[in-house]
Amino acid sequence: MFKDYDLSPRRVPRVETQFRRIVTDFPVPESVPVLEKLRALEPVAMRGQPPVVWDRAEGFQVYDRWGNQWIDWSSGVLIANAGHGRREIAEAIAAQASARLLTTYCFPSEVRERLLEKLAAVLPEPLKKIFLLTTGSETVECAIKLCRSHGVKTGGREKHVIVSYDNAFHGRTLGSQQAGGIPALKEWIVNLDPGFVQVPFPDGFRSTENSFEGFERALSERKVEPRNVAGVILETYQGGSAAFAPVHYMQALRQWCASHKALLVCDEVQAGFGRTGTLWGFEHYGIVPDLALFGKGMSSSLPIAAVAGRADVMDLYAPGTMTSTHTGNPVCCAAALASLELILREKLAENSARLGAVLHDRLHALDCRHPQIGRTDGKGLVAGVACVLPGRKEPDGALAWDVVERCVQKGVLMFSPVGPGGGTVKISPPLVIAEAALLESIGVLEEAFAEATEKKAAVA
Ligand code: PMP
Repeated sequence: MFKDYDLSPRRVPRVETQFRRIVTDFPVPESVPVLEKLRALEPVAMRGQPPVVWDRAEGFQVYDRWGNQWIDWSSGVLIANAGHGRREIAEAIAAQASARLLTTYCFPSEVRERLLEKLAAVLPEPLKKIFLLTTGSETVECAIKLCRSHGVKTGGREKHVIVSYDNAFHGRTLGSQQAGGIPALKEWIVNLDPGFVQVPFPDGFRSTENSFEGFERALSERKVEPRNVAGVILETYQGGSAAFAPVHYMQALRQWCASHKALLVCDEVQAGFGRTGTLWGFEHYGIVPDLALFGKGMSSSLPIAAVAGRADVMDLYAPGTMTSTHTGNPVCCAAALASLELILREKLAENSARLGAVLHDRLHALDCRHPQIGRTDGKGLVAGVACVLPGRKEPDGALAWDVVERCVQKGVLMFSPVGPGGGTVKISPPLVIAEAALLESIGVLEEAFAEATEKKAAVA
């Protein structure tokens, strides 16, 4: 779905505002040798993003070395929740590094204890046991393992089915990809595990069935006995669209899992740490899962991830049998602790809710103006604008690409479109974005949509 960006230079209008500065052609001519060398050295798969060579990123802005400056709507990929390059995080990393403790494997460290204590204090019951890992995919693999171990222990070997959702994304490793709901990403898996099944995600757009009976019906159509379900895993909102499930559905799912002794797993790799206007995404549903998975925004910087869960589930494995080499790396722990302290002290989840209301109002108005927008989704400072063929639900990936490319050339940095057909323009600025910068960047998006749809109409 992703494409190679064209590296031949194009004239783009100069931009100079308080927040954005585009003073060269695009891609920036001086950056092209760097881009070309990367193209020669890296797999093609690494070419999917707009060709902007990052030099420095601070707060909600990204800079290159040639005088250009963007308002960031990517947060990397929803990483820099507390803002890019925060002094407090950089200092915590520097202090830990200069204390000369750069790794410990699973040997204990004080900084790991401090991070876990802080995390446990802000997570609800029963999510009080926490296992640190490095990537989101690893947390998904770990959750699959815990669900199946718990299922087999409580219900025998038949109780191993992992239920997940159509269009879900949980990572690129073997298990996480099978839990995902995007068939194209599984083509390489020649021996798909029949113990992974997907059901429609009740987003009220791609799937019009929003009732919980739809879940039970889908299981029975797939010949899955509820007693054989070990776990149900879902992104708290679907990353490819920013769509949430209805509250009544999630509450029913919570109850269903409890009554069938299946574990409910919320993949909060995108939704956690204030992104959606609450500290944890599942708060929107008034439920607490049995396992919650975190990554991306956890440190706003270095790689660290976590599985938080019920003690009886987290304690299923004997000492030394559920570990990872970089578990709780001290420098990553210091970064995560500093980031969480910033998110809490600066009330960034609240800021995300407040600015999110402004963002979603304007997106709703944009949606009403353009029949090429099928749907806008999201909460807080995450949004997905689904580009479609007018009046239909089929994604229009070409339009989404055009919009993103125009935004980047105008000084609003976005990652490539995501979701079904590559048709979703995803918005996810750092949670520290200033209101004036948010308003300015929404204006840029509106301009980009107007230009891209006009161009399309002229070609048609
Ligand atoms: N779960 C979700 C919801 C994600 O969005 C992602 C990454 N996009 C992952 C898991 C995988 O995380 P990672 O890339 O760190 O392995």
